[in-house]
Amino acid sequence: MDNIFYTHPNNISEGRLELTDQEARHAAKVLRFGPGDELYASDGEGNIFKTKVISASKNSVQTEIEETDHQSEPEIRKVLGFGAIKKRDRFEFAVEKAVELGAWEICIFTGDHSERSKINQDRLRSIALSAFKQSKRRWLPEIIFLNALEEVMSHYDGYHLIMAHVENRVNTPDSLTNKENLLLVGPEGGFSDREIQLCASKDADFISLGKNRLRAETAVAAILSQYLFSK
Ligand code: SAH
Repeated sequence: MDNIFYTHPNNISEGRLELTDQEARHAAKVLRFGPGDELYASDGEGNIFKTKVISASKNSVQTEIEETDHQSEPEIRKVLGFGAIKKRDRFEFAVEKAVELGAWEICIFTGDHSERSKINQDRLRSIALSAFKQSKRRWLPEIIFLNALEEVMSHYDGYHLIMAHVENRVNTPDSLTNKENLLLVGPEGGFSDREIQLCASKDADFISLGKNRLRAETAVAAILSQYLFSK
């Protein structure tokens, strides 16, 4: 099962699964899948399908499903919210690592101290998709884009907030016990006092990621690693 392709759930029905667009091109043209070959595909919603190829062209690979393996949703959701990072390569690194390290969903916001720059949403989604396939995850994290932190909080109303905070006075939960958690990392410029107050007013836990000041993209990887084994 070296290659797992991705297909949108809409492309699966009545025992058939179709790869389209780039996934079809990759399977048919680059890896030369053809009729009779065994092909594995995921729908990003917990399922991996073992299929047999019926026909393959650069626009469409048609397959027949032979087995389905389903993994249920995680008991604990770790949504990662982080302030948009100005440098494109660092921004993309953060998204890739967040997917590998199990973020359930990724929410990118413009913090008070974020430097504005144009965000290529499609490119970030395609990076998330490659990381999803590469890491053999079952659930494809959605990426959503919001404005100020207030908007993030109202979107995730009821979530337990865990904010990575460079100050020393912190209370760090050892593990996650709430079902829905929002892990927050600031942009390069850090969080503003206003944003910190806002989180404090919502009973956030403030956590340290060690005594060194990390770059935003490192903090993204560190906060998710901290709770890697909280299911
Ligand atoms: N210039 C900012 C640093 C921003 S680092 C400042 O001095 O405040 C970007 C983000 O990474 C921070 O907002 C915080 O969420 C996180 N972060 C970096 N290092 C951290 C650490 N040692 N502990 C907790 N959070 C950290």
